[in-house]
Amino acid sequence: MMYETVTKKTGILYVGSEPKMPVERPETPPIYVSTANIICDMDDYDNASQGNKYYYCRTANPNRDNVADAVSFLEQGEQSLVCSSGMAAISTTLLSLAKAGDHIITSNAIYGETIELFDRIITKFGMEVTYVDLTNREEVQRAVRDNTKIIYTEIITNPLIRVVDIDSIVDIAHRVGALVVVDSTFTTPFALRPLEHGADIVIHSMTKYFGGHSDLTAGCITGRNELMKKIYADYLLFGTCLDPNSSWLMLRSIRTMEMRVSRQFANAKALAEALQEDCHVRYVNYPSLINHPQHELAMQLMPNGCGAMLSFRVEDDREKVNEFMHRLKLVKYLGTLGGYKTTIAHPATAFRFEFTTEQLIKMGMEEGLIRISVGIEDIQDLIADFRQALTVFAKAK
Ligand SMILES: *Cc1c(COP(=O)(O)O)cnc(C)c1O
Repeated sequence: MMYETVTKKTGILYVGSEPKMPVERPETPPIYVSTANIICDMDDYDNASQGNKYYYCRTANPNRDNVADAVSFLEQGEQSLVCSSGMAAISTTLLSLAKAGDHIITSNAIYGETIELFDRIITKFGMEVTYVDLTNREEVQRAVRDNTKIIYTEIITNPLIRVVDIDSIVDIAHRVGALVVVDSTFTTPFALRPLEHGADIVIHSMTKYFGGHSDLTAGCITGRNELMKKIYADYLLFGTCLDPNSSWLMLRSIRTMEMRVSRQFANAKALAEALQEDCHVRYVNYPSLINHPQHELAMQLMPNGCGAMLSFRVEDDREKVNEFMHRLKLVKYLGTLGGYKTTIAHPATAFRFEFTTEQLIKMGMEEGLIRISVGIEDIQDLIADFRQALTVFAKAK
């Protein structure tokens, strides 16, 4: 026993802390939870702090780096940073790349909290934000100014599932030397890789499809070395890194991501078609449907599937919509998306504090609009669940 000269009180702090090394060729990387590595002496300090990447956990961690490698591989990017949430990734990127006096163009059909970030934080630091319809090239073009630094976009808008022409955005931005930052959460690298379209930065809320099991909160940022170096310097100071345990679990989730999302994409397409056939459904928003306003663009940009998010409209009757939710047997109402189970959300309820009813209706968020995040269930079970619940709309008032 190594620590027999000290008391149990002290010994228990030290015993068992030597790694059982070497463990040769484990199939899965171990979890490195250590927040720091031991420095031998003063001579070793430079090596430890400068040379050894894994000197302190916030600076670098092997599990987090494994995830970063996987993300860079999927997005075809040079370098990635893995963050504690999607919002951590978004705020770190924006605060790092833009400064007071810079102008940012975005849209109000993006993730709600990103809009709040622009309105409450970004503008507080003296950056200007203009909201446009990013699916309208002329409108984007008109919004560009000499000081435009970033065009910030998502590919599939929320909750109306419109498609942004990434090539057109990149073209407009790069003509004036602005950067294109894409939140690609809804599309995933299996539907579209923004960097291949010339975008400068791609971000994901990994809480959604990357994690895929509704049990991890994380985000990531990917881009070329020169930009990522700049973001990394600020990421260290903001402390927006992901912890080792979550990183390890995230890597495990990523291993099966392609299988999950390809099933989710296929299910979304089939469910969209089935809902469109249902007599209680007024319309369905999903890009692979021929009547979608950007159907051709979507097919061109996302030939392997247009994601697993769709929305549909039923009668604008709060009571019946509530009853519809109660009647669904498999599908639950959840404040997230991208999990392996199908979930629904109610946009008008989600945005009721930010907008008046009139504004919501103008934005296409009527009481009868329901958003679906499609999972990996057997498609027949899924369609059957929606069909039986939709019969509540057959009832006369
Ligand atoms: C969920 C989400 C975010 C925020 O991610 P968190 O992991 O919840 O911080 C950002 N953008 C989109 C499109 C999202 O769906």
